[in-house]
Amino acid sequence: MNKESIIKAGSICSEVKKWIRPQIKKGDLLLDIADKIEDKIKELGGLPAFPTNLSINEQAAHYTPTWNDESTAHGLIKVDFGIHVDGWIADNAFSLDLEGTNENEKLIEASQKALEAVEKNINSELTIGELGKIIEDTINSYGFNPIANLSGHSMEQYNLHAGVSVSNMNNHSTKKFGTGLYASEPFVTNGNGIVHDGAKGNIYAFVQDKQPRNPNARKILEFIKDEFGDLPFASRWIVKKFGNKSRISLMQLEREGILHHYAILTEAKGKLVSQTENTFLVSPEEVMITTK
Ligand code: MN
Ligand code: MN
Repeated sequence: MNKESIIKAGSICSEVKKWIRPQIKKGDLLLDIADKIEDKIKELGGLPAFPTNLSINEQAAHYTPTWNDESTAHGLIKVDFGIHVDGWIADNAFSLDLEGTNENEKLIEASQKALEAVEKNINSELTIGELGKIIEDTINSYGFNPIANLSGHSMEQYNLHAGVSVSNMNNHSTKKFGTGLYASEPFVTNGNGIVHDGAKGNIYAFVQDKQPRNPNARKILEFIKDEFGDLPFASRWIVKKFGNKSRISLMQLEREGILHHYAILTEAKGKLVSQTENTFLVSPEEVMITTK
């Protein structure tokens, strides 16, 4: 692991978070918020590790605006973005209540308190199951549920979900954190605690190396592999570079199994979801919250 790059990605993340958070108001174009975040990341010397997710209310994750998106910020909005420096990732998220409702505020508080409990307790000797219990108990104390099928994750260079799931529930896993880079992200809902795949969103990732039939698709695929590797990217990034017709190539690449097209993860009963996330560099010597 490259500690220097991990710390740099984390400090860019923290700076962008502090800068953008007070700027987000009800009625702002989601597209403007995403562009601002992604431009700022680059200005500070990082690259987006994945498209800015701006998921609202029952959407738990994976909504990012299209190139011409007209939807605006409202409701309970989750702002989830990531930075990488040489492939070393800082992943973070916060939630905002743009309506001033008690329920939204309570949901956000539960998620923040769950993450604070993670910050207090995580160490190399702790098990995934023990941390899951701490998160679950905190969320339950507010009368809410964690989302069972959304978890934090280990990260490696250029690998956002590197194999270890950091559950938000007591799954009785006896695996210890040991040494590693982890994102913890308590998701809280006033529903039952399950998300399912909603409509297809605007996020893709390269998953299978095959030669596309169409020459335009081939050119776009070369760019994707060079620019993003296996990391997720936004359709609007491709449209910005190759024009509106490139959307057809993305569809072809998806059909040929070369790209994965992410669905918007949606609470199964249409209930509200909040999320808070930080990245932790854990070792027997110390625990660093890189994104704080
Ligand atoms: Mn995230
Ligand atoms: Mn994450």
